[in-house]
Amino acid sequence: MNWKVALSDIDMDDAELAAVVGVLKSRWLSMGQVTQEFERQFADYLGVKHAFAVANCTSALHLAYAALGLGPGDEVVLPSLSFVATANAALYTGARPVFADVTSLDDLNICPDDVERRITSRTRAIAVMHYGGHLCAMDRIVDLAQRYDLALVEDAAHAPGATIHGQKAGTIGDVGCFSFFSNKNLVTGEGGMIVTNRDDVADRIKLMRSHGMTTLTWERHGGHAHSYDVVAVGYNYRIDEIRSALGLVQLGKLERNNERRRGLADLYREKLTGFPGVHIPFGDHAGTSACHIFPILLDETISRRAFIEAMRDEGIQTSVHYPPIHLFSYYRERFGYGEGMLPVTEAVGKREVTLPLFPTMGPELVELVARSVEIALERAIEVTS
Ligand SMILES: *Cc1c(COP(=O)(O)O)cnc(C)c1O
Repeated sequence: MNWKVALSDIDMDDAELAAVVGVLKSRWLSMGQVTQEFERQFADYLGVKHAFAVANCTSALHLAYAALGLGPGDEVVLPSLSFVATANAALYTGARPVFADVTSLDDLNICPDDVERRITSRTRAIAVMHYGGHLCAMDRIVDLAQRYDLALVEDAAHAPGATIHGQKAGTIGDVGCFSFFSNKNLVTGEGGMIVTNRDDVADRIKLMRSHGMTTLTWERHGGHAHSYDVVAVGYNYRIDEIRSALGLVQLGKLERNNERRRGLADLYREKLTGFPGVHIPFGDHAGTSACHIFPILLDETISRRAFIEAMRDEGIQTSVHYPPIHLFSYYRERFGYGEGMLPVTEAVGKREVTLPLFPTMGPELVELVARSVEIALERAIEVTS
């Protein structure tokens, strides 16, 4: 498709090219000093003690659940309104994902009251996802985790740099996980980061990221070690120097690009306010969002399919965040989950549409999308009536 406005685009220029060429010329491509520097700067930026760069956010989530000791017989309470990896990664450990509903059509983050209702004697952890870069009600969630003695994982894939009450996403729970996939706020192609303030968890993450081995290839190359032991079942979830070099440049752009995203989101709100049939969530969010995506909710009187098709006809790419995880065939068949379990999540799953948002977008494109929304709404209402 030749979109007039694609859903997302990346902010990439000569700085990224130079960084990658620099790595290639150095002839050391797998994890080494560039990755260490990326981890150090990312940890500094978040104000967190430990940061480990990994292959992607899915491996970060798996490491998080594994390092916190989840296994067969354990339950994790988490949102169904997320990317499937949040739950799949729990399955890798043998733990059972137990879904909690989101708060409301205004607040698409996991509902603390519903989390509490889902806690059983088998619950070992809570995982939250900061939808669209808007932080969850972390004071309530942290309180629950403490009262019930549960580990807390933050899927912060949408939220690098987002804050609430002065605290950054990913640094509030026991472990935070970030994605650098090509449509995220900081991109390296594939890539991710796992962060923690806990030394014990950091030790396990470091081991499990690389086969449970006690030394790394580049440490041996540096002459710091000549052999290794294996002390745990580990994985190969390493990033490489090429991606870390991209990540360093992208990290330098993150604050400015998040600021741009917030400006564009504000403009969307202004332009779309008063459109009949459209509800814009997170109108009174307490924190500073990373504005990863711009979600809208259509009234039940509007056909979402017709709306999305009309937007496509106008040259505007849209998406849906998310088809609820508990309604996927695998989850229905394995766990007996189904319709009616999570009413708000299911309503959002049917009515949400994500509009284009990316830092290089420019206000004129926001205005073009807003005009297209108006046209698409008229067509989608006609279809329904
Ligand atoms: C993108 C994303 C992931 C997965 O990230 P990868 O880096 O592609 O593995 C997980 N959770 C959420 C909420 C995401 O948006």
